[in-house]
Amino acid sequence: MSKKCSRCGGEMSLMLRSVMYRNRVRIRNVPVHICTSANCTNSQVVEAIKEDLKKLMNDLGQSPIRQDIGFDEVSELSHLLVSIADQTEEVDVTRLMEQRINDLLDLFLLAQSLGDQQWMNDIRKRLTKIYGNV
Ligand SMILES: [Zn+2]
Repeated sequence: MSKKCSRCGGEMSLMLRSVMYRNRVRIRNVPVHICTSANCTNSQVVEAIKEDLKKLMNDLGQSPIRQDIGFDEVSELSHLLVSIADQTEEVDVTRLMEQRINDLLDLFLLAQSLGDQQWMNDIRKRLTKIYGNV
């Protein structure tokens, strides 16, 4: 997850930031790389979640109502990063992803046994995102 700053070459750290959209919507837990150098303010939205963020803003439209959204609830990757950020000790990202995938597979089996087609599709989409993005 470590990344070099494109401006000063310093170390960038991964943080979860709130992003305001159209001054009305607060999107919490957006993963952002922030430069740790004292004189540099460079920050960058994590590449892998850009699509999810764009889609969310698209869905919100030009004049959204005032609201507060947890980005981790709409983006599978953000959800993963939030759970990584919650850990104080160093975590094994691969293991965490496997865990998440196992959780989703459990849910998938449940959805399947209930014959809930829509739920199954939703979970399938989430799984594809994990596999596709990381
Ligand atoms: Zn920098």
